[in-house]
Amino acid sequence: MNSKDRGKQIEFLPAEELGVKDIPAGVDRRGFLMRYAVVGSAAVIAGCSTSGQGQKAAAASPPQKEANMSPALEVVKKSKGPVMTTVEEFYKVGPGPSSSHTIGPMRITYNFYQRCLKLPADQLSKVTGLKVHLYGSLSATGKGHGTERAALAGVIGKEPATVDPLFLDSLRDNPDQRFPVKMGDKTFNVSLKDIIYDAPKGDFPHPNTMTCKLMGGDNVIFEQEYYSVGGGFIEWKGYDPPKKGQPKYPYSTMKELLAHADRDKLSVAQVVLANEVTVSGKSEAEVNAFIDKIATVMVAIVKSGLSMPPGVLPGPIKLKTKAGDVYKRAMEDQYEKQRGIGVVSAYALAGSEENARGHLVVTAPTGGSAGVLPAVVYALGEGGRRLPKEKIRDGMLAAAAIGYLCKHNATLAGAEGGCQAEIGVASAMAAALIAQAHDMPNLVVANAAESSLQHHLGMTCDPVAGYVQVPCVERCAFGAVKAWTGFMIASNEIATNRRVDFDTTVSAMALTAKEMNSKYKETSEGGLAVSVVLC
Ligand code: SF4
Repeated sequence: MNSKDRGKQIEFLPAEELGVKDIPAGVDRRGFLMRYAVVGSAAVIAGCSTSGQGQKAAAASPPQKEANMSPALEVVKKSKGPVMTTVEEFYKVGPGPSSSHTIGPMRITYNFYQRCLKLPADQLSKVTGLKVHLYGSLSATGKGHGTERAALAGVIGKEPATVDPLFLDSLRDNPDQRFPVKMGDKTFNVSLKDIIYDAPKGDFPHPNTMTCKLMGGDNVIFEQEYYSVGGGFIEWKGYDPPKKGQPKYPYSTMKELLAHADRDKLSVAQVVLANEVTVSGKSEAEVNAFIDKIATVMVAIVKSGLSMPPGVLPGPIKLKTKAGDVYKRAMEDQYEKQRGIGVVSAYALAGSEENARGHLVVTAPTGGSAGVLPAVVYALGEGGRRLPKEKIRDGMLAAAAIGYLCKHNATLAGAEGGCQAEIGVASAMAAALIAQAHDMPNLVVANAAESSLQHHLGMTCDPVAGYVQVPCVERCAFGAVKAWTGFMIASNEIATNRRVDFDTTVSAMALTAKEMNSKYKETSEGGLAVSVVLC
């Protein structure tokens, strides 16, 4: 079946077959409910509480509504044309812990702040304040992601790539701080009280919807609705994507990408680089310099995470950090072959713990999965194989193609597709990176990514207490190790014998995302989030 037919199959599935049941099919209803009762009883006996969201979910909750997305969103529409994403849009530097709940909201409020500055003087003369409303998943799990702090930072003119994470920490430690905002002749104060956790459920155009309002007393002077659509990408009502050049090698599937590469005898990385130049208008040297900079940031993130003294991550889970210990023990392991797994895991833990601290990370493709690619970049470079930077750069380009295709034909947001869309895609990107950096044939690059993505299909997003820590931190380590496994399998089999191709697995991810109960899409209302007892 070709990719076109696969698309048709998804499109024509009867709606009732795609409906969401309150209790998953195949799960005994009585057992399911008893399990909640047992968790609740254990909490009472132990004098502990289940995570906040878990308590809500344990109560009789109404049937879950599937998180639909408006067909007007560019993120939905663009699956019709070729991939147009560029590395500068894709690999974004910003504070953790979540690209969709931290970097996206900060970019949104910064965008709103910039728009407000351009309003006519007579409108600005009436301004008295500003309000930001968070809806859907942003409301359900935003507190655990520091969404309100990120949104406030944007409102006062701070950008994700340059914000000092210590500033965000200070907002957490002193939440009553007020900051002056100057617009035109008026100056008014804003604080975290102006960021409002509004309805977690409703008929929103996107699961991560926000509205920003410039106020004049009780009147709204200017309002804009925004969407944080995953990976730090943002859109707004009436969004018109920026004008770009046409890709030299238009593709919307891996099959099309490989056809270009085979015909012109190019690697996957070379196809992506050629498109970067024609789509962005930048020179090859500029694109390469950007990628080198991102790889350097990734290395710095791993080093920073490894050097942190043992402690606990912020938030109610009190999760102990372990990157440094895992690294030390791995290096001492008497079985040399086991060291590799331990070291790669430690690198990924280092990156994901930095994310959980709210320190700077690179979306690859998201904040929650931001430990995976840096682990592989560091392991291939100065933390291990010491491959030249040109090889790692090629790997980063091939990894970008995997991320682009997953974004284009499925999703990168846990709020839309569960964790398969975050750690699964990160692992697939990392597998392609390893294969490309070792100059593997194009089909091996694609197969490595396919293998890694395949074995994340169906993975849910159920962060405990809404914090990007459990399961996210360790999941990055598994994602990095599975990337190596995917590479090892793909590079040791006859590539043309592989029975599942990358596009098929991306389609399967999209279908799984569509059918996944919304409890498992970053709402903290299912899975681990309602099972773990916090003391
Ligand atoms: S469970 Fe996965 S998708 Fe959900 S927040 Fe954690 S890393 Fe992201």
